[in-house]
Amino acid sequence: MTPIVELDDVTVVFRSGRGARRREVAAMRNVSLQVAPGETLGLVGESGSGKSTTSAVVLGLQPVTEGRVRFDGAPLDRRLRSRAGRVQAVQQHPQWALDPRMRVIDSVLEPLQVIARGRPENQRRALAMLSDVGLPESFATRRPHELSGGQRQRVAIARALVTNPSFIVFDEAVSALDVSVQAQILNLILDLQAEHGFASLFISHDLAAVRYVSHRVAVMRHGSIVEVAETSVFYQSPSHPYSQMLFQELHS
Ligand code: ADP
Ligand code: MG
Repeated sequence: MTPIVELDDVTVVFRSGRGARRREVAAMRNVSLQVAPGETLGLVGESGSGKSTTSAVVLGLQPVTEGRVRFDGAPLDRRLRSRAGRVQAVQQHPQWALDPRMRVIDSVLEPLQVIARGRPENQRRALAMLSDVGLPESFATRRPHELSGGQRQRVAIARALVTNPSFIVFDEAVSALDVSVQAQILNLILDLQAEHGFASLFISHDLAAVRYVSHRVAVMRHGSIVEVAETSVFYQSPSHPYSQMLFQELHS
């Protein structure tokens, strides 16, 4: 089966400064990975290991220094229009995705308006999406400041899903939430994936969250993928010494 997203030997180097202050950071080094349709690939690693850079690359927001990126079998060039609505992102802080002045329903509608402006069914679809993420219709006219953190993340998820994407990136999407709310959002993601069938890259520094939602797990360190394994295999017996160290930290 053609992967929905495929990175082939991708390197991303950030350069900054001049002269003696010149610095180069390889945020990704020769990263290869694939995500199959309907699959969730978990991506774990410490802060600074290159997870968000990987997210930006698969979203087409970050150009690569070397390597190739394919979306649904075709090279990912910078013509984003053809992919509009097919790839979406949910980030750590929903306030980044939600305009504080906009009503919830308008935030959910916005991505639909980009790809199918003015369709009469858009409003109905956005309302249905709100109910899919477990929010009552009465929330439609609220603004973000009238919602809890978990409710805001539900709106961000509704906004990501409303265009029926085939691929969603969750970048630390539950990391800012209380533990009990995290569990609710993880369950919501699983339910929505069962219903809508999207593939996803689920990025987190939290091994337990990744285990809960991922079919396979990739471990990133200093810009490189050091291990990729089926979730059950990985959590039974991580093979790379760095993965084993991550587990020790978790259990200490
Ligand atoms: P993570 O999400 O795993 O915490 P990032 O992908 O954000 O890691 O960062 C990986 C490395 O790349 C870090 O050393 C970070 O400082 C660096 N980096 C990320 N974005 C930029 C940028 N726009 N310019 C320069 N360096 C960057
Ligand atoms: Mg990050």
